[in-house]
Amino acid sequence: MLYLVEHFYSIQGEGRYTGTPSLFFRFGGCNMKCEGFGCEEKAADGTVVLGCDTVYAVNKEHFSQNWIPITNAKELLNVLELYELPRAVDIVLTGGEPLIYANNAIFIEFLNVLHAKGHQITFETNGSLDVDFEKHPIYKECIFALSVKLSNSNEHFHKRVRGDIIYNIASNAKGAFFKFSIEAESIDLGLEEEIESIIAHSLKTKVYCMPLGGSKEEVERNTEPLIEFCKSKGYNFSDRLHIRIWDQNKGV
Ligand code: SF4
Repeated sequence: MLYLVEHFYSIQGEGRYTGTPSLFFRFGGCNMKCEGFGCEEKAADGTVVLGCDTVYAVNKEHFSQNWIPITNAKELLNVLELYELPRAVDIVLTGGEPLIYANNAIFIEFLNVLHAKGHQITFETNGSLDVDFEKHPIYKECIFALSVKLSNSNEHFHKRVRGDIIYNIASNAKGAFFKFSIEAESIDLGLEEEIESIIAHSLKTKVYCMPLGGSKEEVERNTEPLIEFCKSKGYNFSDRLHIRIWDQNKGV
């Protein structure tokens, strides 16, 4: 059993493949909470839940009544038929944290069929859950956007930064890149050292920094200081196109 929160066909809004037509599958559940990001979402029972901008896909207790239980791979593959896809478009697996299902048999079958159909598969992951590339060689055909969490997430260091896992994924996957969400105020507060210590686990992996924020207003406020930061460090700036265009709307 695994949980699907939503699916939508859109363009990738951030990271290396910004602008690429992609079919997104958002899976439910995560091994973190990231309450430091300060996004709030009201649950059906009126509870205001604190977390990241996808807290509705993280917090099982308050939001899982809207999640779709998946009991076989066909249910996931059927989603592709719902869209008039022009070709084998990119598939983006996000969450929550999709790698909580890394060893799930339904999930592995889904990945193998997608790959056989010619889709490029990209994981959006926090990079803290390991992947067994020998047991499940399909992961060698996947790309990993390693969105390793910084101290602004309020998660414990040893939970959010797993150098061994970063190295394993970056060394064995078809492709990998780092992706960090950054707010303007944190730039002078040791952020540079924090990022450098994370990317030291895989120095050849490219770095993308994007403005923190669950709304267009927040993203715009953080953009210019972040561009200056990227220029000074030689990192790539990544916009968050989907938030800039569609603001807080989900499923776009
Ligand atoms: S790891 Fe990602 S999905 Fe999970 S709580 Fe943090 S930001 Fe949200």
